[in-house]
Amino acid sequence: MTKTFMPHLKTEEELKARQLKGLQWTVRHAYEGSPVYKSRLEEAGVHPEDIRSLEDLERLPFTMANDLKEGYPFPLLSVPFDRVVRMHASSGTTGKRKVLCYTQKDIDDWSHFFARCYEMAGLSPEDRVQIAVGYGVWTAGISFQMGCETFGAMAVPVGPGNLDMQCQFLVDFGSTVMCCTASMGLLMAEEIHRRGIRDQIALKKMIFGSERASDAMRDRIQTLLGVEHMFDIPGMTELYGPGTGLDCSYHTGIHYWADYYILEILDPDTLEPSPEGEIGEMVVTTLSKEAVPLIRYRTRDLTRMIPGTCPCGSVLPRHDRLLGRSDDMIIFRAVNIYPGQVDHVLSGIEGIGSEYQIIVDRKEDGRDYMRIKVEAAQGVDAQQFENLENRVSREVKKQIMVSAGVEIVAYGILPRSERKSQRVFDNREE
Ligand SMILES: [Zn+2]
Repeated sequence: MTKTFMPHLKTEEELKARQLKGLQWTVRHAYEGSPVYKSRLEEAGVHPEDIRSLEDLERLPFTMANDLKEGYPFPLLSVPFDRVVRMHASSGTTGKRKVLCYTQKDIDDWSHFFARCYEMAGLSPEDRVQIAVGYGVWTAGISFQMGCETFGAMAVPVGPGNLDMQCQFLVDFGSTVMCCTASMGLLMAEEIHRRGIRDQIALKKMIFGSERASDAMRDRIQTLLGVEHMFDIPGMTELYGPGTGLDCSYHTGIHYWADYYILEILDPDTLEPSPEGEIGEMVVTTLSKEAVPLIRYRTRDLTRMIPGTCPCGSVLPRHDRLLGRSDDMIIFRAVNIYPGQVDHVLSGIEGIGSEYQIIVDRKEDGRDYMRIKVEAAQGVDAQQFENLENRVSREVKKQIMVSAGVEIVAYGILPRSERKSQRVFDNREE
C-alpha cells in the first residue's frame, strides 16, 4: 500500500517540535476565538506569546466537563458560526448533554487519523468492515465509516444490535473486520457459536470501542471465534470522537495520535504528573482542533503511560487500556477501587466467566459491604462454585486489599448488553 496515514515524523524531537507548534497555535486560536478561553487565560496570567516551550503547558488553566455544560448548547466555540459544518452530542444521561461543533477541517483531520487506526490494525483496501456501533447524533457510527472510506476499505454500515442481520451480513458479504463494543462482540461470538456458522464467516479482526474489553471477555471471544486480532479504540466526543489511537498488532498498549493532541497523565487529587508508568487521569490538549479546541481538558478517564518503545518501532507513544473513569471509582472503606482492578483479578482465575457485577451497600450498622457477583465459565459444574467463591474472595483481598462477599452464578445468568454493560451498582445513599 502506498498511501499512509501515519505521521511523517521520525523522531521524538520532531514530534515535540510539532506539538509545540500546535500548542502555540491552539492557545492563540482559543484566546482570539473564544471569550471564555480568553478570560480563563487572562485570569491565569498567560498570553499566547508566553508559550515558548512544551513545559509552558503547565502554566495553562484546566478545562473541565462543567465548562462544556455551562456553555450549552455550543460551549467553547472558537470560530464564527458560519465555519461550523457539524455538531455531535455525547450520550450523557445526567444533566445536559455535551455538544461539540466541528469545522470542515476538524472533520477532515478526524477522518485522516481514523483512517490511521485501520492502517495501524493492518487492514488493506480489500477489507470489509462491518460497523456495528451507533449511528445518529453520537460520534461513533459516522466516524468509523468516514475513517473506513478515507482508508479505502469497504464499509458495511449496520449499527448496533440486530444479531440476525449481523450474522447474515458476516456470511453474505464476507466481512473481515467488525467494529463494536466489547459487550456486543461477546454477544456476537456467542450467537455465531450457537448458530454454528463460524466456518462460513471470514472475520479476522475486531475493533472494540467505548468500553474496556476485559481480558476474560477477550479470551471468551477468542475461543469462540478464533479471530486473529482484537484492538481497543479509544475516543470521547470532546476529543473529536472515537479513533484517537489504537494498539498495533503487538498489543503492547494503545498508540495515541500525539501529533493531534498532547496527553498528560496527572494525579486526580494533586493535578501533578503521575510518576512514569503509574495510573492517573488523562488530560488532553488539542493541537489543531478549530471549532472547539481543548486546553488541558480533564477527561476523568484513568490510564497510565507505557514506558519505552514498542517493538513495531512507531514514534507514537502508548497509553494503557482505560482503567475506568475517576467518576466510577468506588471509595470503599477508605480504599479507592476501580472496576478495572476487579476485572484484572477475575481474569487471572480459571473457571471464571467474563461477566461480573460489583454491588456496594450500606447496612444498618453504618458499614459498607461489597458483593461481587461473577459468572462461572461455560461448562463449570455448580459443585465447584463454593471453591471458586473462596478463591475470588482470597484474590480480591490479596490484590485490592478489601473484603468482599463473592457469589458465583451459572454461565449466562448475568444480563448481556449491546452497549456498555453496567458493572457497578452503588446502593449507598449520598
Ligand atoms: Zn506498536
